[in-house]
Amino acid sequence: MSAPIPRPIPTADADSEPYLAALRRHQLLLQHCSACGRVRFPPMPACPWCGGAVAEWRAVSGRGRVYSWVGVQRALTPDFESEVPYTIATVDLVEGARAFGRLVGPEPSAPGGGVAASFVDHAEWTELRFVPDGEAR
Ligand SMILES: [Zn+2]
Repeated sequence: MSAPIPRPIPTADADSEPYLAALRRHQLLLQHCSACGRVRFPPMPACPWCGGAVAEWRAVSGRGRVYSWVGVQRALTPDFESEVPYTIATVDLVEGARAFGRLVGPEPSAPGGGVAASFVDHAEWTELRFVPDGEAR
């Protein structure tokens, strides 16, 4: 029998360290391109629209609307078996970036529902999730 696959834990690198550190403080910090002003997610070394390498980290509201989602019915690893089914959503943040994370609550019946960021502390990291608007904590 093979060893169980451990639950994946994000590893900070030069691009993601400010983002992951901010999640630990329950804050959503995203890169704003210094050349074109667009906001990007996930953290990356250069702007996907203009190629600019300089960006400023700024807090965003965490509010947005569900763009799309997938319902996870089968556990990725045995660690997740007690958590299925759950929903992973892509969310169009009001600041302009499209982020993703677990969507708390029932699977949406249509796109466009308002959501807000929520933060779940694990031992090693803090996870970004989204909750239906009005249920943010
Ligand atoms: Zn840019």
